[in-house]
Amino acid sequence: MSAHIDEKSGDHALETQLSKVSITSDRPLLITDADEVLFAFMRGFERHLHANDALFNWESFRLNGNILARKTGEPLPNPDVRTLLMSYFEQHTRSMDVVDHAPAMLQQLSLRMQIVVLSNLPHPQRPARAAALQDHGMSFPIISNEGSKADAVAHLSGQTTAPVFFIDDSPTHHREVAEIADHVVRIHFISNPRLGDLLGPAEASHFRARDWPEICAFIEDHLDRHTETTPA
Ligand SMILES: [Mg+2]
Repeated sequence: MSAHIDEKSGDHALETQLSKVSITSDRPLLITDADEVLFAFMRGFERHLHANDALFNWESFRLNGNILARKTGEPLPNPDVRTLLMSYFEQHTRSMDVVDHAPAMLQQLSLRMQIVVLSNLPHPQRPARAAALQDHGMSFPIISNEGSKADAVAHLSGQTTAPVFFIDDSPTHHREVAEIADHVVRIHFISNPRLGDLLGPAEASHFRARDWPEICAFIEDHLDRHTETTPA
């Protein structure tokens, strides 16, 4: 119980993390997910499953029910799936492959907007994720979050009058963000093509991207059309 209280009131608390991110009030903002958006989550997770006598069956876009014991072919119970997910983050957050073009496109976008990484991963792995981002030239503020991302997105997006963009692979996050921060432009992106084929565009998203160059072009086009140009 005390650990729970510490989580809520300590360095990991969402309010504490958000208070440390400074947002410029008239600069466009990009809030981006990490797993399956900046890092090749599924590629590494499949390797981790194989190393632990399990496999992903590629039936649908979800982990629970789709991870099988290699020997029996039976779906693992949800607590075992969670254990494998936690050990994956513990062992591989620092070393996950980066998604093609993500660093270069973020560098380009950072010339005209501020960028925050909003990642649902266990709080103890936040430093490893920050280091991995730095390794790949993506030294942007990183917030570790649990559950819905809507509160964090609403808080961050409320601090700028300029356009705000949100990128995530999960349709659930798009729906929850749309419910309380509908002005945020929502981009649905699943970097793993095989995983992406299992799911259509998220209903609550404005755009489904196939790769980072498409994301970059979409955002730049939106900014060109929606931000005032300074007179020459
Ligand atoms: Mg993700």
